[in-house]
Amino acid sequence: MLTFEKYVCPATPREAYDLLQENRLATVIGGMMWLRLADRTAPLGIDLSRCGLDEIEETPDAFRIGAMVTLGQLERHERFSAATCGIFAEAVRDVVGTQFRNLATVGGSVYARMGFSDVVCALLALDAEVELEGAGVVPIIPFVERGARGDILTHVIVRKHRYQGAFESVRNAATDFSALNAAAACWQGSWHVAVGARPKKAALLTGGERTPLRRDFSPAELDAVCELAEGLDYGSDLRGTAEWRRAVAPALIRRAVRRAADKPRADKEA
Ligand SMILES: Cc1cc2nc3c(=O)[nH]c(=O)nc-3n(C[C@H](O)[C@H](O)[C@H](O)COP(=O)(O)OP(=O)(O)OC[C@H]3O[C@@H](n4cnc5c(N)ncnc54)[C@H](O)[C@@H]3O)c2cc1C
Repeated sequence: MLTFEKYVCPATPREAYDLLQENRLATVIGGMMWLRLADRTAPLGIDLSRCGLDEIEETPDAFRIGAMVTLGQLERHERFSAATCGIFAEAVRDVVGTQFRNLATVGGSVYARMGFSDVVCALLALDAEVELEGAGVVPIIPFVERGARGDILTHVIVRKHRYQGAFESVRNAATDFSALNAAAACWQGSWHVAVGARPKKAALLTGGERTPLRRDFSPAELDAVCELAEGLDYGSDLRGTAEWRRAVAPALIRRAVRRAADKPRADKEA
C-alpha cells in the first residue's frame, strides 16, 4: 500500500512546485491510478487536484490541456478529436475501461513516460509540447527522450494543423497493455510516425529532424520507412519477443499511415 506521512493539496502549480523543491522525496499525485500500485511510504504527497489543471483550453492555434484532465475527458472532447482526426480517442479506447480513463490523467501519463504508453505514442506524432512549472515549455520529443526530474507538468499543448492521423496497436488481450503500438500524423506536409511499446519508450521514426516522409509519398517511400522500422531497437518481455516486434512493426506502421491518409484532413478551425 502507498502511504503518505503528510498530504497537501496546494491551490496553484507554483505552490506545488515550491513544495516539491523543499521536499525532493515528495510524490506528486495525478490520478493515482499507477501510483496506487506502489507499496511504500512517501514523506509527502502533493495532490494536484485543486491546482486548476483540469481544463482543456482552445485558442486559434492550439489546445492547452491541463495535466489533471483525464484520458476520458480528452477522449470525449469533440473539438480536440475533430482537430486531430480522432488519434487520441483511437489511442486510449482500449485503456482498461471507461471508469479507469475517467481517473487516469494526461499529465500523469505523459510525465511517467511509460514504455507501453499509448498516450505518449499518440502525442509524439502530433505537434505537441509540455509545459512544466519549473523548466517552462519543452517540445514533446526531448521531453519523452529525457524526462524532467523534480518538476510539475502543468499542461500539454497540441498545436493546430490540418492533421491526418491514426493510431494502431496490438494487444494480446482486450484492455491489456499494448504489445506494440504506432501512431501516424501528417502535418506541415510530412508524416510523423511514432512506434512505442517496443517495449521501450515510444520513439519518432519519421518527421522532425528524422527521415522525412512527404505527404504524398510514393509506395517505395513508404516501403523505405517500414524498412527503417526494422532497424529500431526492440526488446523482449512477456507480451512479445524482440523478433516478433521487429516483424510486426512495419505492418503496423503501414496500416496507421494508410488509414490516416484515407481520412479527410482536419479543419484547422475544427
Ligand atoms: C492497470 C493499468 C493499466 C494501464 N493500461 C494502459 C494502457 O493500456 N495504455 C496506456 O497508455 N496507459 C495505460 N496505463 C497507464 C495509465 O493510462 C496512466 O498513464 C497512469 O495511470 C498514470 O496516470 P495517473 O493520472 O494515474 O498518474 P499517477 O499514478 O498519479 O502518477 C504517475 C507518475 O507521474 C507523476 N505525476 C503525475 N502527475 C504529474 C504531474 N502533473 N507532474 C509531475 N509528475 C506527475 C507521479 O508522481 C507518478 O510518478 C495503465 C495503468 C494501469 C494502472
